[in-house]
Amino acid sequence: MFKQIQLPYALDALEPYVDALTMETHYGKHHAAYTNTFNTLCEKAGITDWTVEEIFAKLSELPEDLRGPIRNNGGGYYNHNLYFSILAPGKGGRPTGALAAKIDETFGSFDEFVAKISAAATGRFGSGWAWLSADKAGNLEISSTPNQDNPLMEGRGFTPILPIDVWEHAYYLKYKNLRAEYVKQFFNVINWDAVAENYAKAMA
Ligand code: MN
Repeated sequence: MFKQIQLPYALDALEPYVDALTMETHYGKHHAAYTNTFNTLCEKAGITDWTVEEIFAKLSELPEDLRGPIRNNGGGYYNHNLYFSILAPGKGGRPTGALAAKIDETFGSFDEFVAKISAAATGRFGSGWAWLSADKAGNLEISSTPNQDNPLMEGRGFTPILPIDVWEHAYYLKYKNLRAEYVKQFFNVINWDAVAENYAKAMA
């Protein structure tokens, strides 16, 4: 049984950058629905003891009629757990330590990193995600995926550590058609300590 993370902050805590109604709908409806459907599909497929990572790695072993729905809803479950877990009120700023050093080394500077992942987020046509991911050696990569896909499904050894959800449900109530403005403001609520923990786990 896969469970949504419990939010360690109130639904209105990320105001004004992420509004309470968006949080209520996004976490309470969209994420809840992905999670419930994912659990139902796993039961149908006879999955009892696989982790979600194992499910993404073994999608091709699943019954053909359940493969697509499990990819979509499992992605929706996993991606949003990661998304909501790296947000926090009163955060933003910049990463420190090993993650900061690797970002500078890989992308030139923090500002260049922000420009590149923002371009991945705004350039994703239709619904999807932009990602910062890490492999076991600590290499970083920016990418973008459609729908509820994520880098784990690509099987290249990269684990997402920072997601940006660019489905319209993530920003439309407040930002309407202005995805770029949502992406810009999103950096005010990133909890870089949580991202750094994800980075350490990706290398473990
Ligand atoms: Mn979403």
